[in-house]
Amino acid sequence: MAAQHTLVSRNGKTQDIDASELVPGDIIILEAGNIVPADARLIESASLKAEEAALTGESDSIHKTTDALTGEELLPADQVNMVFKGTIISNGTGKAVVTATGMNTEMGRIAGMLDIEQQKTPLQQRLARFSRQLAVIVIVICAAVFGFGLLKGEPPLQMFLTALSLAVAALPEALLVVVTIGLAQGAKRMVKQKALIRKLPAVETLGSVTYICSDKTGTLTQNKMTVTNTESAPEQEALLLHTMMLNNEVKENNHDELIGDSTEIALVNYAKGKGLSYGKSEQAFPIVDTLPFDSDRMMMSTLHRDGDKLLLLVKGAPGKIIDKLAAKYSEPDKENWLKKNREWAANGQRVLFFAYKYLQGDGEKIAHETETELEMLGAVGMIDPPREEVIAAIEECKTAGIRPVMITGDQPVTAMAIAKELNIARDANSILTGADIKKLGEKELLEKVKHTSVYARVSPGQKLEIVKALQLNGEYAAMTGDGVNDAPSLKQANIGIAMGITGTDVSKEAAHMILLDDNFATIVKAVKEGRRIYDNIRKFVLYILSCNLAEILTIVCAPLLGLPIPLLPIHILWINLVTDGLPGIALATEPAEKDIMKRPPRKPEESLFAGGMLYQVCFTGLILAAGALTAQYWAAAHGYDERAQQTLVFTTLCFSQLANALSVRSVYRPIFSVRLLANPLLIGSVLLTILLQAGLVYIPALHPVFKTVSLDNSLLLEIMIIPATCLLLIELIKLLYYKVFYSRQLKVNSASS
Ligand code: ADP
Ligand code: MG
Repeated sequence: MAAQHTLVSRNGKTQDIDASELVPGDIIILEAGNIVPADARLIESASLKAEEAALTGESDSIHKTTDALTGEELLPADQVNMVFKGTIISNGTGKAVVTATGMNTEMGRIAGMLDIEQQKTPLQQRLARFSRQLAVIVIVICAAVFGFGLLKGEPPLQMFLTALSLAVAALPEALLVVVTIGLAQGAKRMVKQKALIRKLPAVETLGSVTYICSDKTGTLTQNKMTVTNTESAPEQEALLLHTMMLNNEVKENNHDELIGDSTEIALVNYAKGKGLSYGKSEQAFPIVDTLPFDSDRMMMSTLHRDGDKLLLLVKGAPGKIIDKLAAKYSEPDKENWLKKNREWAANGQRVLFFAYKYLQGDGEKIAHETETELEMLGAVGMIDPPREEVIAAIEECKTAGIRPVMITGDQPVTAMAIAKELNIARDANSILTGADIKKLGEKELLEKVKHTSVYARVSPGQKLEIVKALQLNGEYAAMTGDGVNDAPSLKQANIGIAMGITGTDVSKEAAHMILLDDNFATIVKAVKEGRRIYDNIRKFVLYILSCNLAEILTIVCAPLLGLPIPLLPIHILWINLVTDGLPGIALATEPAEKDIMKRPPRKPEESLFAGGMLYQVCFTGLILAAGALTAQYWAAAHGYDERAQQTLVFTTLCFSQLANALSVRSVYRPIFSVRLLANPLLIGSVLLTILLQAGLVYIPALHPVFKTVSLDNSLLLEIMIIPATCLLLIELIKLLYYKVFYSRQLKVNSASS
């Protein structure tokens, strides 16, 4: 689903196709942020630069040209008129003819380098370590049981098998499987909610997020820009409109739709509404060169021929354009324009200033230095309404102990207007600008980020500083980004989130997760899903470990009470594979508990057993074992033979474990607080297990295999009463836990939000 797309020009029309459909001879259109989809010869280049470190090891960006090269056997690093598959366009735009695709490319030849190594998630690693420790403990216990049995004069083979099955009982075989299924199944469910997980660990860590730093444009807002205000300099109406039409990188696809930056599309649409067309404008002012927009410069320029003169048209952020105006503009002149800007911005509008200048000489390339001594052309304001569902999502964040933060390249006034509308920030104290950040020392920034909810006019480099500061404060930050320059901060963030629709390939490559709908609300849904999955893994671990403990205690304690061996190896294997396995796996599909977004975020380094779970495992194990031993004791006292005792213990354990599975659906809340049918898979697997167990006990043909006997009525009564009593006790313990651990946690959270 994260397959690479590319723009091609086929039959004179620009199309967006899957990169795998490229063939040699295709003309591809490249822009900053693309990962080059094939090897290709450049035919147009506007300040095009490529980062080819992946291929050549050269860390600086290479300036690309369209010139013919001389020399033979040039290495890829020297072929500056070529772009290569897998490298990154870091700057500019261009067009190129595909020369090789797939395994025929330079990168294809060294495809081994692209092999992605399989990585275990932190949780999987911790569990693997836990399993190893458990194994050591189990071997010690097994040896002890074996030795003890021999001393008591049990037959050695029988004792060996018992010790062996004890080992089987103790080791949670299904654990890693269930965790992996849980994570993968979670990722699958997230995709349905439009969050595509690129790195599996993100699933489990999402629940720990304490800060969500989101871009404004498109994520918090609808990204449907509409021009609402324009104001041109005296007698410049016409040129202002032409500039709106020409100064952009908007392209038309074969359905006559405009594709590109929403800001620029708004401008083109406005100019079209005023009766202009691209053809007409381009005829009046043929384009010679383009210096594309980037978020650091915050402006864009195009160079045109106007008769025999060269005309430079520029648009950009108001503050940046004002600084580049010619000396003839007096302070009051500038202040007049800036006042207009402030007025519009206070209503949440994005404001762009437009400027122009005629150039001396006949240079046909624009350099950054050319963007000075400008003359004012006009101002344009546009609105981008907030997404409605975001308001609720922000509210949910706050109750969940997560702080939503807006980061934008837009100016503070616009940012604050939208932030207020979305309830992200209330007063001007919680805003910090890029210029402020520059002035702050490292320590001061650490302090500032604690109280800041809106960052305006920040550059992508500063986004990196912000994440780092948050992390140094011990926060766990998710951050969104779409541009090339956002890649470092996406990598640095604990959860880097790229935009599926507007994001560049590079940002997607760096991200842990991709928002297929670019929507902030989707992040919050993903966090909720992450919490649910982690919860369920914990429930499973609680279930499986308490059951295993119960089996061990039963086997170890029975001889101490002077009882015969309570469970045969085959029983233990059955309990482990069927009774533990089926409901255990079904626990992974347990829906989220009601208050899942009302608790504070889990600390990422927190152990799986945090919140007193290890005690809970022990108590539950003790209760279940006590139940099984009581059953055996009663049967022995009433003269039942060894086989009947074993069948009874086997069945009692099975049923009380199933009761435990139902109880564990909520770790802290009473069993009846969970809707019984909310997890049909679990209910189904419980019923199935009961049926199978009844079969083992009552189908005579199975008796020799499973060493069971049919139970008479009084034993049947036992296997009803004892599991029910166990359930009651487990629920009582839970109640205690709720009082001691959970309610306190919730209180802390409501106090802090
Ligand atoms: P955001 O995160 O809000 O999209 P950007 O970094 O894209 O921020 O934009 C920063 C500023 O640059 C904007 O506030 C606007 O003034 C200006 N700007 C945005 N897009 C363009 C463009 N295509 N051409 C010129 N200026 C632009
Ligand atoms: Mg932008």
